[in-house]
Amino acid sequence: MPSPTADIGLIGLAVMGENLVLNMESHGYTCAVFNRDTTKVDAFVTGRGAGKKFVGAHDLKDFVASIKRPRKIMMMVKAGKAVDDVIAQVAPFLEAGDILIDGGNTHFPDTTRRMKELAPKGIRFVGSGVSGGEEGAFKGPSIMPGGDATAWPEVKPIFQSIAAKVKDAGGAEAPCCDWVGPEGAGHFVKMVHNGIEYGDMQLICESYHLLKEALGLTPAELSGVFSKWNKGVLDSYLIEITSEILAYTDPETKQPLVDLILDTAGQKGTGKWTIDAATDNGVALTLIAEAVFSRCISAQKEERVAASQVLAGPQVQKAADRDQFIADVEMALYAAKIVSYAQGYALMAAQAKASNWELNNGGIALMWRGGCIIRSAFLGKIKEAFDKNPKLVNLLVDPFFAGELGKAQSGWRRVVGAAAASGIPVPAISSALAYYDGYRTARLPANLLQAQRDFFGAHTYERLDKPRGQFFHTNWTGRG
Ligand code: NAP
Repeated sequence: MPSPTADIGLIGLAVMGENLVLNMESHGYTCAVFNRDTTKVDAFVTGRGAGKKFVGAHDLKDFVASIKRPRKIMMMVKAGKAVDDVIAQVAPFLEAGDILIDGGNTHFPDTTRRMKELAPKGIRFVGSGVSGGEEGAFKGPSIMPGGDATAWPEVKPIFQSIAAKVKDAGGAEAPCCDWVGPEGAGHFVKMVHNGIEYGDMQLICESYHLLKEALGLTPAELSGVFSKWNKGVLDSYLIEITSEILAYTDPETKQPLVDLILDTAGQKGTGKWTIDAATDNGVALTLIAEAVFSRCISAQKEERVAASQVLAGPQVQKAADRDQFIADVEMALYAAKIVSYAQGYALMAAQAKASNWELNNGGIALMWRGGCIIRSAFLGKIKEAFDKNPKLVNLLVDPFFAGELGKAQSGWRRVVGAAAASGIPVPAISSALAYYDGYRTARLPANLLQAQRDFFGAHTYERLDKPRGQFFHTNWTGRG
């Protein structure tokens, strides 16, 4: 048997795996590659991988034998059962100290379970979020690893070299990859990232809808608005691609392609998982929830078309001052985005507490700052907020963000009012405002709610005029 030459092995040569190993190879690493359908191994090593430092294998025993010890093996296969299948097939060839990494979009409790199952065999398990799609995987993704911390020093040089790079506050180059935390923390943070991505996309779509309906802007004009926004506080990948999408002309019809696309959207696991985690932890993740539910409503196309003939609504009122309305929508989008990230961070804090994880909040913002779909200048400000105060209880009360919200709120309120008056749905923008107002209200009407619960269910209540922790019940009707 020849001595092993590969620095790392990768299982799963689909879109993500193929681009990730090309990225690793371009940074000087020799990579062993394996895929269940082995014709893909041959196609890869003779195709995109030709002439490069790849070791193709047709069975897992040879694959494992070709990797230097302690072995580092990354799985980039379909999330779910496929990961358990691959672990069951590869684990018998591994030795104590070897490192197995799942880079797919795995639900974080599965990662915690797999880590615990593999630990008795001495196999160190890492669950790592990888974001940025095909292009990110090839040029530099955002990588969010968590799990067995003893594996991190071994994996760190490879991961940090292939990750996207951004300038930190001091102007130094920093990789968008750092250790996230134990167990399923890496996959959890990737899940929240995906939830935030749902929210960012929904906010952009609502802004587009408002400008289109209330100002009657054409896609070309809208492209110009988003392009301008991309130079300000909203500077981000999603705003940038939205501008490009709106400028794109369908070669077949010569019409803006965006106008020809069916208005129904699907939603896969990560949005739902994020909401599940929020309800499990008692965290108000309203914006991401609205983003997921908006996709559900969009999918009911036939019902919506029928209802549009039955249900009354107001006439759309054209905004009188075009420039003011555009500026207001920009502020509404910005403020709602701050709320969304505040909610996402609140969820991470709650899960970290429940799981006994230490999460590096500023480091997470830096990991999302480049390489991934939600990358934006704004994340630099979040990093600064957590650097200044690592124990920040909610991003909204950070002095910078509180100030930004204070400045944005009048435009934000005008937009929500205008949308309601015109019957244009803005669930994410308006629920964010409701959260903002709820969070800054010292006395909410939950006193009445507690009274109702006590009335019908004897659930008891606490009193403002008595110490906390004392519970009271009232016979509200005087009946026995
Ligand atoms: P994918 O379509 O999710 O999965 C295809 C790969 O999984 C193929 O290599 C396939 O092997 C393998 N596979 C499926 N079932 C298997 C089984 N039972 N046993 C062994 N191998 C099995 O590929 P992808 O889009 O590259 O994504 C890989 C992972 O990254 C997923 O978890 C995905 O959610 C995540 N991710 C994807 C993106 C993206 O933009 N695509 C972005 C971030 C994260 P065969 O060729 O033999 O079928």
